[in-house]
Amino acid sequence: MIDETFIKVADNAPLMLWVTDKNNKFVYFNKNWLSFRGKSMEEEISFDWNTSVYPQDISRVKKKVSRSFEDRKPYKIEYRIKRYDNTFRWIIESGNPQFEEEVGFTGFIGTCMDIHNIKELEKRKTEFITAASHELNTPLTSLTVYLQLMEEYFIHNGPANFKALSLGAMQQLKKITSLINQLLDMNKIHSGYFSYNWSEFPFHDVVTQVVEKFRMLYPERCIKYEAGHDSYIYGDFERLTQVIENLLSNAVKYSAPDTEVVVELREKDSNIILEVSDNGIGIDPAFHNKIFERFFRMPGPKAQTYPGMGMGLYLTRKIIEKHHGKIYVESKRNEFTKFYFKLPLLKTN
Ligand code: ADP
Repeated sequence: MIDETFIKVADNAPLMLWVTDKNNKFVYFNKNWLSFRGKSMEEEISFDWNTSVYPQDISRVKKKVSRSFEDRKPYKIEYRIKRYDNTFRWIIESGNPQFEEEVGFTGFIGTCMDIHNIKELEKRKTEFITAASHELNTPLTSLTVYLQLMEEYFIHNGPANFKALSLGAMQQLKKITSLINQLLDMNKIHSGYFSYNWSEFPFHDVVTQVVEKFRMLYPERCIKYEAGHDSYIYGDFERLTQVIENLLSNAVKYSAPDTEVVVELREKDSNIILEVSDNGIGIDPAFHNKIFERFFRMPGPKAQTYPGMGMGLYLTRKIIEKHHGKIYVESKRNEFTKFYFKLPLLKTN
């Protein structure tokens, strides 16, 4: 596999690259890798994990690499490795098994990129969002209390349109509070501090509660839901409320006011399935996976006119997965969108 042409290409590639033989022994590193590591080929061939990889990352990387090697399957992993100046840098590594005609499996090729600066920026962004959200949350809580007090005082002796005005103000405050909470949740999920309160409850209760709330919030919209099953699940009531609210608010947001939004709850093979469908702008199939990514919003002038920050579906998927469930989307541009997820039912003996 390693002939002169390969070496020429590999040494001119902007990536760091290594090759192993079929026994998982390193046989080659390209120029970029060697200069990043500050090693000669002879030194690096006997790569020592314990002195090269960041102590906290060693077992995770070893496990992933050896499993992929045994299964001869590609892998991707981020970890910290020692650079020529003895500092540990984050890299992203893709390992790919190589097969040749007649010989079969010949080993792995790994390509790596230094992503340390990106990671640092990401960390700073996360810290900034958390700090900014907390700072915004405090005056917002006070503002809500002041508004409630004003409401109590003026409701009987204020101007005639006071009730409508204060209702409007309160709704806007709730929107900001919910956006800030979403930002905080995003960071908590990202850094592993998103907490759950587990209990048993009929799933139908969560759905009914959210549907009722949306019928009140959007009295002009037709939101169809036929109550039925009262099967129990084991989960976090608040987090699942958040999930259904996200799906319903998207259905309402991305469809015309005179169209229906349909919520359907079913049971199938010891799972409950919840569907939320609308006949709105739809989602191009090319974006069906992307929409669950952090901060992803559909490109295009039309999609960008809708308010939002691309956090809802990311949080939704994370919460569903924590409940051992799965979420799916089916959609056609300018015709319909259907999000549905399944969650395991509580086993009853
Ligand atoms: P947000 O709506 O705040 O932008 P989400 O994470 O909830 O963020 O959704 C991500 C993107 O997926 C949206 O920006 C939108 O482009 C698309 N999307 C989500 N739900 C729908 C829907 N029901 N109909 C059309 N597009 C949708």
